[in-house]
Amino acid sequence: MNSTYYHEVGKEVAVFEHTYANKLPFLLKGPTGTGKSRFIEFMANKLDKKLITIACHEETSSTDLIGRYIIKGAEAVWIDGPLTKAVKEGAIIYLDEIAEARPDVIVAIHSLTDHRRELYIDKLGKIIKAHNDFMLVASFNPGYQKGFKELKPSTKQRFISLSFNYPENKIETEILINETKIDKSTAKKLVNIATKIRNLTELGLTETVSTRLLVDAAKLIRSGLPKRLSVEVAIVEPLTDDIEIIEALRDLCNLLI
Ligand code: ADP
Repeated sequence: MNSTYYHEVGKEVAVFEHTYANKLPFLLKGPTGTGKSRFIEFMANKLDKKLITIACHEETSSTDLIGRYIIKGAEAVWIDGPLTKAVKEGAIIYLDEIAEARPDVIVAIHSLTDHRRELYIDKLGKIIKAHNDFMLVASFNPGYQKGFKELKPSTKQRFISLSFNYPENKIETEILINETKIDKSTAKKLVNIATKIRNLTELGLTETVSTRLLVDAAKLIRSGLPKRLSVEVAIVEPLTDDIEIIEALRDLCNLLI
């Protein structure tokens, strides 16, 4: 039994299984909170493989992933980084938000994302062939607004890619019920709120209501916080800091819950 709950939204399970079987790298595209990390956790469990997750940020460098020498007593000792470990042990490595990382990370994974499937460790002057079970997975938020980092087309073309988005109402309602044990009627209302806000593109929100925010709101309601307050602090406030938009969204939500 898979201990990770994941509700399939499209054909992602089959796509992932075939990608894994063919030893290809995989890229999940989509906004935050749409189930990308949960999906990878679920697939690693399903395939019975170890998962190593790295949350990339602007300081993440190839050294962080590959490894470094540390001084121990009078000696310099080499310590494998998470990518090297995954390559050797045959784990699935998940580079979350890969576009945030420093450019040398993209260079470092180059030879792992094609037929060579090998990692070059320049500090050791060594090339390591990836274990048969090794898989490289990355996620990327295309963010149609300004301020998001891009991935080069030549990098994107190295991955089998799949877009993640908000699930249809029925599935999202089921996810809320499964994740939080909230009643169906409230779950439906939360999904309705999300749909309304997602359609308000004129607000110009950088990111709109994610499934994660709905799950958080449902958890607060389930634990006894008043519904309107739960929606305000879990959905409205995390979306924007603009007082006028907060007020408009709060009024809208109050009508719907
Ligand atoms: P991402 O990695 O895309 O930012 P997560 O995987 O962390 O998003 O998803 C956020 C939360 O949303 C999860 O913790 C889970 O509660 C819920 N979720 C989203 N999509 C699904 C799904 N298809 N099945 C189960 N839970 C989901």
